[in-house]
Amino acid sequence: MLRRAGPSLRHFLLEKNSSAGHSSCSREAKMSRPVQARRLEGIDKNIWVEFVKLAATYSKVNLGQGFPDFPAPDFLTEALTRALGGGNHMLHQYTRAFGHPPLVKVLAQFFEKLLGRDLDPMTNVMVTVGAYQALFCCFQALVDEGDEVIIIEPFFDCYEPMVKMAGGTPVFVPLRPNPPKDGKLMSSADWQLDPAELASKFSERTKAIVLNSPNNPLGKVFSRGELGLIAELCVKHDVLCISDEVYEWLVYDGKQHIRIGHYGLWWTESSHVPLMQPERSMLSSAIGVSLLSLPASLQGMWDRTVIIGSAGKTFSATGWKVGWVVGPDRLLQHLRTVHQNSVYHCATIAQEAVAQGFQRELMLYGKPESYFVQLPKELQQKRDWLVQSLDGVGMKPIIPEGTYFLVADISPFKSDVPDVPNSDEPYDSRFAKWMVKNKGLAAIPLSAFYSEAHKNNYTNFIRFCFAKEEATLKAASDILQKWKQEKTSL
Ligand code: PMP
Repeated sequence: MLRRAGPSLRHFLLEKNSSAGHSSCSREAKMSRPVQARRLEGIDKNIWVEFVKLAATYSKVNLGQGFPDFPAPDFLTEALTRALGGGNHMLHQYTRAFGHPPLVKVLAQFFEKLLGRDLDPMTNVMVTVGAYQALFCCFQALVDEGDEVIIIEPFFDCYEPMVKMAGGTPVFVPLRPNPPKDGKLMSSADWQLDPAELASKFSERTKAIVLNSPNNPLGKVFSRGELGLIAELCVKHDVLCISDEVYEWLVYDGKQHIRIGHYGLWWTESSHVPLMQPERSMLSSAIGVSLLSLPASLQGMWDRTVIIGSAGKTFSATGWKVGWVVGPDRLLQHLRTVHQNSVYHCATIAQEAVAQGFQRELMLYGKPESYFVQLPKELQQKRDWLVQSLDGVGMKPIIPEGTYFLVADISPFKSDVPDVPNSDEPYDSRFAKWMVKNKGLAAIPLSAFYSEAHKNNYTNFIRFCFAKEEATLKAASDILQKWKQEKTSL
């Protein structure tokens, strides 16, 4: 019934307009004031719209946008099926606006383990529509007109427009590559912050810094030393830290993801695991200080950090769009205000299934059967496979320490896509477009992860996503090999 009502209503309106002599054109012409809100100026173009469309139109193999093409784990999809058909019809209704109680409770339990501190599920955790909405809430709630927000380049591209929409000014600081010695392949660890340059970006106008470790697109996992430096600067200048940790479980080669919100509880270089309460007490007596008597600079980060996570990345289910924020109530209370006045609520049933996923992971914490242990193992193999095949054709990869992205140097293939002098479009962007149209392989140009002012700084790189089935990676490798052979036989 409702379906049939749609077209007839449209028909009625069309007839009404045409009988009154209106056309959509004349209606547009009558608008004398600007339609677009000022806050959207300069942020209306988005590279993803273009590249997602190109991939959909031309790609035979899509290693562009970041999502797995393998299934989400059975325990998660089974949890969803149970939630759907398990007889609790209330799971189809609204739940608590700031997070379904079972999900915020288990997230609090989980993060208590990771952060070594007690958490209140109702005030220290908020569930969002993906990490994307978590970021939006942070910028809207914490950034004012005139505030500066430091963003480390290259960066997940939505940070810049979100800061601008909140009225803030993004201030960029680059990770600078140091060429590796002895002809070795570069690692994401070779891209580093210059401490003096970073320090020079902090001022009395700085409200926050955005940290993304492991970093999209490079896969850099920030070291304890680098995080310590950022933490010291945040404390010194009274700056907040928006810590985007969506790839927290995707770290390789035995590396550890270190949480900046945990800073102050790191204690010693040798404590590679988060410390639980009894261990903390033992350690405090061993080093002869209680936690509270530590210098303020070593206590400061929890109070000024919001930690952002994503079930999409954590459980290989990006389409579910369940994310969260963990942090002190003094910050989260303002995020709740934005959430309740914008999105208000996330799908109950997806939250229920993610809660069950976390309950399983809590039980299996650190064990070999844990998904958070298995997934990085599998992804590391995929990474190594793609590294080898890119290296084999001369597209030198930068080995990522984390995430499921890999950036590669396209220099040896440049002769196929000649440079256009004075073009406003960065070379890597034209290269990626040419590659998908002519070779059927989709990737994302690295310049998409730089600000407008710096988009021409590194234009020899493209980003691949390796969270893909073996067959997909093999198909990508076949395309590259064939291309290489065509080049050498010329
Ligand atoms: N942060 C980073 C660094 C990301 O790469 C992404 C997704 N590509 C997000 C946030 C958004 O995550 P979600 O899909 O959960 O909204």
